[in-house]
Amino acid sequence: MSGAVAARSGRLARVRKAMADRGVDALLLSLGADLPWLSGYEAMPLERLTMLVVPVDAQATMVVPRLEAPRVELDDAIFDLRPWAEHEDPVAIVAGLVGDRSSLAVSDRAWATFVLALQRCMPAASWRVSSEVTGPLRAVKDAAEVEALATASAAADRVAADLLGGAIPLIGRSEREVSEDIGRRLVAQGHDRVNFAIVGSGPNSASPHHEPGARRIGPGEAVVCDFGGTYAGYCSDTTRTVWTGGDPDPAFAELYRVLQEAQAASVAAATVGTACEAVDSAARGPIEAAGYGDAFIHRTGHGIGLEEHEDPYIVAGNATALQPGHAFSVEPGIYLAGRFGARIEDIVVAAEAGPRPLNVSSHDLTVVD
Ligand code: ZN
Ligand code: ZN
Ligand code: ZN
Repeated sequence: MSGAVAARSGRLARVRKAMADRGVDALLLSLGADLPWLSGYEAMPLERLTMLVVPVDAQATMVVPRLEAPRVELDDAIFDLRPWAEHEDPVAIVAGLVGDRSSLAVSDRAWATFVLALQRCMPAASWRVSSEVTGPLRAVKDAAEVEALATASAAADRVAADLLGGAIPLIGRSEREVSEDIGRRLVAQGHDRVNFAIVGSGPNSASPHHEPGARRIGPGEAVVCDFGGTYAGYCSDTTRTVWTGGDPDPAFAELYRVLQEAQAASVAAATVGTACEAVDSAARGPIEAAGYGDAFIHRTGHGIGLEEHEDPYIVAGNATALQPGHAFSVEPGIYLAGRFGARIEDIVVAAEAGPRPLNVSSHDLTVVD
């Protein structure tokens, strides 16, 4: 067995135990990251159904369109393959594999077309989302996954270093041009694809998910750059905020000082056993104390792995205690509408030895042209 197959069969064993604990009789995985996490195969988002049927008490079966079956690496230690021909009804095939099992969990990202058809076919079944089973398991990364995240983060850090070092010109370019430049560099540094490259300049820096547009960046502005991609299956995500052209506005420098302190406090708080919501409040405390509480308008972070956003969420109300292998962003921000904003984001992994930041490019307020 290869290392990857051994990892997946370990995951399958943990999934079956979680299913048993939660009273789930069968797990039905289609689109979304649960399927590649468990099987190594990513379904095409098409009108032809792909679904891995995992009964709690029997061998798993991958129901896949016949024309896509050659792409599936068959590992019969983990699952059987049931290719379906164009004249067959895949929903009926799935229902046949489910049999009289009635407590079902289906991919959060499965298309409604298929979920509704499955429900019509199995009217006695009860339904919930698969993340109830897989979310807490996927959130805990094994050593190979942590290294994959570290590799992705290091590649994003090289782009952040370009930004902070002035290799990515800002003044005189549009946000869109800078965003495209960052995207090209993410790929040049080894990413398979760019997931996003937010560039918010001047007043747009106060809009956390600003869509980079035609606005030309001038001197004397804050610029928030938040970017990430997928590298060998795992995601990167980092944010750095810079000032353009000369000494920062003193009000911005003060805001940034508070943010930098809050971000560092939050990373330091992310020790094993600490509740996710306490990591959030560690960021929120210094920001509120400085009078910017109303300007920190989002949660502190999100888990990251095969998906850009996944469990665990670093947010008020999430009492989940951090475990070794939890990987998540710490990304507080302060946004003053109409003026400027800033965000600092690192990916952090919880470990027995203490929080391990995977992004290590400078946090200091940097002036670039
Ligand atoms: Zn975001
Ligand atoms: Zn981000
Ligand atoms: Zn993020």
